[in-house]
Amino acid sequence: MPGIADAAESAGALDILTDQALFEAVGVRIGFAGRAGGVSQGPYASLDCALHVGDDETCVRANRRLLFEALGVGGARAIIPTQVHGTNVLVVRPGDDFDAAQEAALEGADALVVSAPEVGALLNFADCLPLVIVSPSGAFGVAHAGWRGAVAHIAAKTARALSALDGCDPAQFNAYIGAHIRSECFEVGEEVVERFRTEFGEVAIADARHVSLAAAVTADLLEAGLDARRIADAGICTVCHSDRYFSYRASGGTCGRHAVVALRMS
Ligand SMILES: [Zn+2]
Repeated sequence: MPGIADAAESAGALDILTDQALFEAVGVRIGFAGRAGGVSQGPYASLDCALHVGDDETCVRANRRLLFEALGVGGARAIIPTQVHGTNVLVVRPGDDFDAAQEAALEGADALVVSAPEVGALLNFADCLPLVIVSPSGAFGVAHAGWRGAVAHIAAKTARALSALDGCDPAQFNAYIGAHIRSECFEVGEEVVERFRTEFGEVAIADARHVSLAAAVTADLLEAGLDARRIADAGICTVCHSDRYFSYRASGGTCGRHAVVALRMS
């Protein structure tokens, strides 16, 4: 059974949650980075991996290198999409042109599904929910779910795209939910609560003004055929732990982004 919390390991000065058993079984390295161990300063301190938030580009590129080295995949290439709170799932197959895929990703994608070896996927987060899904085939998906993505079923859409790509039964997939804003800190408007109720019933509603992204995404994954026993949740709130993770809400809006990466080495 997958676990990220209990498979946590410190990679040098970086704070990365991973699943070592997954890597040994199917060769997919996953990494949920925290903000420690990078070179960025001020509100971006320190492992900011996003180019769109006002940080120094040289620092961001250095941080990405540090992250890949810490994961043992230094020098590997990764597709890094422009995240737009949409539901576009970009698929990258073996033999696809890397530069063309990266170009397409810049036009907007909130999930990447990859079966190509040695092509990483890197997405950025500061409160939104990071989801990684890994197939026993070695193909994987990485998705970004804020409330808009959650109610638009980006999680199920990613799982289905992965299954369509490699033909594996979603019940065999491992899914990993990283640190994000948990329901106790996620106050939203009544209209957002109603959207969650419409899409997921009561399961993702904490109270009249709070919703659970993790419960919504989990319900979505179960609907797509995943096995509840194969869904691991790091159980960490980015707002409550803004010393360890970037939090848009806790920072007041100016902050870096921590990265989530997946990659299969051949
Ligand atoms: Zn919290």
